[in-house]
Amino acid sequence: MDIQLTRKYNVAGPRYTSYPTVPYWDNSPSVEDWYKLVKDTFLATNDKEGISLYIHLPFCESLCTYCGCNTRITVNHAVEVPYIDTVLKEWEMYLKQFPGKPRIKEIHLGGGTPTFSVVKISKN
Ligand code: SF4
Repeated sequence: MDIQLTRKYNVAGPRYTSYPTVPYWDNSPSVEDWYKLVKDTFLATNDKEGISLYIHLPFCESLCTYCGCNTRITVNHAVEVPYIDTVLKEWEMYLKQFPGKPRIKEIHLGGGTPTFSVVKISKN
């Protein structure tokens, strides 16, 4: 075991069990307000520490009894490519909103099961 790698990643991280996150469930912002929030957050963090990205990958092959996530249960792996294409389009949309080049500090993959695609690969 690589102890330095363990120390590097053994830190508290945000807990994402829903997307959009709870504060936006009842009071969804307008598109303009959302873009403003994105820009303001970018300006407040990008140059100082970099931005954090959360990529929601919602698919699971079976439902865990304790699941509280925004997940989609399926064994149909044909959903992967269209979903990832849509995520990439969303990223392009954000890139147009950012007033500068993003410095990505961290990426969180949530779900769902981020290895959903790997499961498919390993079965073939
Ligand atoms: S999101 Fe996590 S807890 Fe929920 S069904 Fe998938 S693997 Fe289980």
